[in-house]
Amino acid sequence: MQKDIANWFSDQLLSWYQLHGRKTLPWQINKSPYKTWLSEVMLQQTQVATVIPYFERFILRFPDVTSLAAASLDEVLHLWTGLGYYARARNLHKAAQVIVAEHNGTFPVEFEQVLALPGVGRSTAGAILSLALGQYYPILDGNCKRVLSRFAAVAGWPGNKAIEQQLWQLAEQVTPDSTDVTAFNQAMMDLGATLCSRSKPRCAECPLKLNCRAALVGEQALYPGKKPAKTLPEKQSFWLMMQHQQQVLLQQRPASGLWGGLYGFIEFSSEQLRSDYLLLNKLQVTASLELPTFRHTFSHFHLWITPQLVQLETKPASVQEQTGAQWFTIAQIPQVGLSAPAKILLQQLQALHTPE
Ligand code: SF4
Repeated sequence: MQKDIANWFSDQLLSWYQLHGRKTLPWQINKSPYKTWLSEVMLQQTQVATVIPYFERFILRFPDVTSLAAASLDEVLHLWTGLGYYARARNLHKAAQVIVAEHNGTFPVEFEQVLALPGVGRSTAGAILSLALGQYYPILDGNCKRVLSRFAAVAGWPGNKAIEQQLWQLAEQVTPDSTDVTAFNQAMMDLGATLCSRSKPRCAECPLKLNCRAALVGEQALYPGKKPAKTLPEKQSFWLMMQHQQQVLLQQRPASGLWGGLYGFIEFSSEQLRSDYLLLNKLQVTASLELPTFRHTFSHFHLWITPQLVQLETKPASVQEQTGAQWFTIAQIPQVGLSAPAKILLQQLQALHTPE
């Protein structure tokens, strides 16, 4: 990008920010690298309005890195339940423990040290240091990618390394090398989240419209380029919801992999295996109900889930021993992280449940 256009871009954006930027979000009040880090991780793939209540609950319970590091992963995942992309919560917890172990509980302020934390990439590290401490680092989150690819008409999918590299170069060119970096980076994110939205950009109100190549020719919808289409594979899972009186059995999943560390129902890859399991363990079923099959979509596949609710005569000790599962009272959603479909099923169970 030509230098005069890059300067014009930053001047325009900074003036717009003074009038329209967001300056009173919860993580912008009494800013700190810790709060900025939490908010940046929560905001990945999630909108501000959704994040605010989660952030407020999180900061109340974990006011600093030390309290987050000392918490159990279950509690962290519980406070994250509903926000999705749980690897973010696991990485936050792991990173807090790294900060305690390697930086005496003080959030690092060197770029390389921040970048070395679990779950922190170049853009997040730059956002933490620029927004909280005013250090000069450009950023390139999803919002910035959209604004820059439209402004400079960069064709191609930003997930492609070469395209991403091109966008980083543009980000470096437009980011002002001055004390304004905090306001500028916030302005980029705000513009992308408000005016330069994915489906209906409000170009008439945009401070960049006079030089925005996509807007000038009415081709905003072409940018950023879409990920090459791919049909997602489909998988099936058969869940066993074991109930005994007013309790239900939940099993914690392995720490890594799908829904890592979250609780859910015991699952099988086929209906036959599920029935065999009941027979082999001589579980005395007093009532059984097949619930409707539903689909849960991950980024890389669709999972069709068929749950079966069974009432058991007695609590079989063998099941708990084999699976490491635990009984929870249905009336209270357990204070642990739950996979989204397990949470919905538990809520349905609660609705059916009448206290004795
Ligand atoms: S003019 Fe439109 S497309 Fe271009 S940056 Fe502004 S809102 Fe986005």
